[in-house]
Amino acid sequence: MDERPTRITCDIDFQKPGKQLSYLRLVHSDNRHAFGVVPVPIAVIANGDGPTVFLAAGNHGDEYEGQVLLQGLVRSLQPAQLRGCLIIMPALNYPAVLAGSRVSPLDHENFNRAFPGDPDGSPTFALSHFVETVILAKCSAAIDLHSGGRSAVYLPCVYLHGGGGKALLQRKIAAARAFGAPYTVVARATSDNRSLSAACDRRGILMVATELAGGGTVTPSVLQLGRTGLRRLLHHLGIFAGEGPRDDFAATRLIAPLGAKSSVMAPTEGLFEPYHDVGETVKEGDVAGVVHPVAELDRPSLELHFAHGGIVSVRRAPTLVARGDYLMQVAVEIDEATLYA
Ligand SMILES: [Zn+2]
Repeated sequence: MDERPTRITCDIDFQKPGKQLSYLRLVHSDNRHAFGVVPVPIAVIANGDGPTVFLAAGNHGDEYEGQVLLQGLVRSLQPAQLRGCLIIMPALNYPAVLAGSRVSPLDHENFNRAFPGDPDGSPTFALSHFVETVILAKCSAAIDLHSGGRSAVYLPCVYLHGGGGKALLQRKIAAARAFGAPYTVVARATSDNRSLSAACDRRGILMVATELAGGGTVTPSVLQLGRTGLRRLLHHLGIFAGEGPRDDFAATRLIAPLGAKSSVMAPTEGLFEPYHDVGETVKEGDVAGVVHPVAELDRPSLELHFAHGGIVSVRRAPTLVARGDYLMQVAVEIDEATLYA
C-alpha cells in the first residue's frame, strides 16, 4: 500500500451530520493555473449510523447521464432521508467534465485507468490516489455511473467487474438485481486492474457501475431508468431511512461479451451505416452494417458481419469511422452459476 500522503486538501468533516457542499483542492500548476488549485466538487450528506457509500459520475467527462442524476440528487436529498453517509462526486474527473472530454485535458489521462494513483503524479493520478486512499477507505459500497460518452451508445445496463472473489461477486449481483436495469453485464475479472471497480475489489468494497446509453447526451427515458435504479439500489444498501420502494424489482438479464469475436471492427475509413441498434438479437453471419468509402464512388460499400450471435450491447455513435474503430459489440445471456464455476 502506498503510504505517501495526498497533497489534496478539503474542508469537509466526514464525521459531521447534515449536508456539506464543498470541493477538493487539487494542486496543479501550469500556464493557466499558476498558483494552482483545481476545485473538484464534492457533497457529503450524512445522518446517524449506517453505511458510507461513494456515488460518482464524470469519471469520464463526456458521459452525462450519471452527472445529471447526481446533480439532481445532491440538490434534492435531505439528511433526514438517510441513515449513514453518502459521499457524492458528480464531476469526478472535473477537468475532463469541464472540457466535455473522456480524459483530462490537463494530462490526457483516463481516470478509470489511473488507480491506485500517485499523490505526486499528474492531476488525474493525484485525484485517483485521493479517491482510493481517503474516500474508499471510509466506504463499504460505491456506485460509479458511466455511459457510452460521445463515442458509443450502450444498451442501458448495470456493469459489474467480475473480480473480487465469489462472495463479493454474489453481493454485486444481488445489488444489480436490486437496481433492476433490463440487463447486467458481467465483465471478466481480468478486464483491467487500474479502474475504480478494480480498486474497490482490492479493498473488498461492493462496487456497482452502470453503462447508461451515451452518445454525448441524455434522454428522459434513460434518466428515469437510472433514477429509479439508483433509488432501489440505495434502499438495498440500507442507506435510505424509511420504507423501501413499493414497485417490484424488474428482473435483470445477466449478459457477457465473448472476447474478440464479440466485436465488429472497421476495416477501412468511411461512413458507417448500422443495420441494427442496441437491444436487438442477431445471429452469427448477420450483416452488422456497411461502411461507405467517402470519395471512391465507384468502390462498393463494405458489408460487415457479426462473428457471433447475441444481443447488440454497444454501438459506435459517430458515423465517420477509421480503420480499427469498434462499431458494435454483442453479448450473450449467461447463467449466474457459471460465474462461480
Ligand atoms: Zn466511462
